[in-house]
Amino acid sequence: MGAGLGYNSDSFLNCQKGGPMESSTPPSDALSRHRDALRAQLVSVGDMRPGSLVARYRKCGKPSCRCAGQGERGHGPSWSLTHAVEGKTHTKIIPAAAVPRTLEQITAYRRFRRLIRELVDVSKQLCDDQLEAPQAASTEAAKKGASHAPSSPRSKPRSTR
Ligand SMILES: [Zn+2]
Repeated sequence: MGAGLGYNSDSFLNCQKGGPMESSTPPSDALSRHRDALRAQLVSVGDMRPGSLVARYRKCGKPSCRCAGQGERGHGPSWSLTHAVEGKTHTKIIPAAAVPRTLEQITAYRRFRRLIRELVDVSKQLCDDQLEAPQAASTEAAKKGASHAPSSPRSKPRSTR
C-alpha cells in the first residue's frame, strides 16, 4: 500500500528516534504528529483557485503593424485561467496586474490538494491502527489532553432553546 503516494511514510516513521522518554513509542504516535502537522498546514493555506494560467498572443491583422513581422508572436500576452469542470473547459480572463496573485492562488490550491491527499492517507492509517490496538488509541487521547489544552468541545454546553 502507498506505492503511488507523493510522500514516503516509511522514511517518516524510520526517522522517529526513540528517546529515553518514549522508548516504546507506537508508530501511531508518529502518525498522529504527522496528522497534526498536516492539519496546521491546511489552516495556513491562503486563497486558492483551481486551473492553469495561459498566455495568449494575438495578431491584429494590419499589415503595417509590427505584429505582422517575421518571428513576431503578436500582441499580448493576455492571460486567462482555464479550468476543466466535468469535461468542460471554463476560461476566465485574468488582468495582467492580477497574474502574480493568481499564480499564488493556483499554487495554494495544488498545495491544498496535496495536503488533503496526505492527510486522508495518514488518517486512514491511524484508523487502521485504532482498529488493531484500541488500547493504544485511548492512551494517546489521554496524553494529548495532558500536553496542551484541548480545543475539542468535550464539555460542550447543551443548547437550551
Ligand atoms: Zn498588430
